[in-house]
Amino acid sequence: MIYLKTDEEIELMRVANRLVGATLAEVAKHIAPGVATLQLDKIAEEFICDHGAIPLFKGYNGFPNALCISVNEHVVHGIPGVYALKEGDVVSVDCGAKINGYCGDSAYTFEVGIVDPEVKKLLQTTKEALYEGISQAVEGKRVGDVGHAVQTYCEARGYSVVRELVGHGIGKNMHEDPEVPNYGKRGYGPLLKSGMCIAIEPMINLGTKNVKFEKDGWTVRTRDNKPSAHFEHTVAIRPGKADILSTFELIDQVFNK
Ligand code: MG
Ligand code: MG
Repeated sequence: MIYLKTDEEIELMRVANRLVGATLAEVAKHIAPGVATLQLDKIAEEFICDHGAIPLFKGYNGFPNALCISVNEHVVHGIPGVYALKEGDVVSVDCGAKINGYCGDSAYTFEVGIVDPEVKKLLQTTKEALYEGISQAVEGKRVGDVGHAVQTYCEARGYSVVRELVGHGIGKNMHEDPEVPNYGKRGYGPLLKSGMCIAIEPMINLGTKNVKFEKDGWTVRTRDNKPSAHFEHTVAIRPGKADILSTFELIDQVFNK
């Protein structure tokens, strides 16, 4: 069941997603060598709660924290812990929050200090692929058009697309229909209609597309231990152009971009 949102609901979705963007920017200020991922999680949880919102991930199917933090070969769903970030790491921070009954979901992969140029390029390409996908997220297109755009952009540059995890519809619940894979065929899949809200989230690997689950039951990592990148926006489908409800602008401000 795909729920179309009214204009009023989309504004509420924007509030939740802006708060997620602000939380990611708050986390960005603290990313540095020596910082434990659990410290970042605490900062995010406090920030979300101080703004009258609920961290969406905490307690979701038993997930223990407010953020998913996935370093280097970890693709997504990493559990924050004692691991201290090192110079050269890349760290995916995925954040969800609920306020006024509506959900926000967005992720960004950060660089810790100086990162290998090859890995930097992976991050840049994954972020670009996200916007390639968003460019297809318009009324009258299909879910397959979004996935196709992400997949072709990344594969043409020698990267691989994770198959096991996908984007999703979002609204009053974090995960709604439809599923939004980062691969697909043009003209296939559910029709996109104005008022649909979806989270588009490419998970792109430097090496093989294959992943496996760590023993903690959550963390997904690449089989070949090569790095992975993850960027996510929540968008509303509109005629002509998607309305991006989450934001990286506040993160850019932290890095003076
Ligand atoms: Mg997310
Ligand atoms: Mg998501």
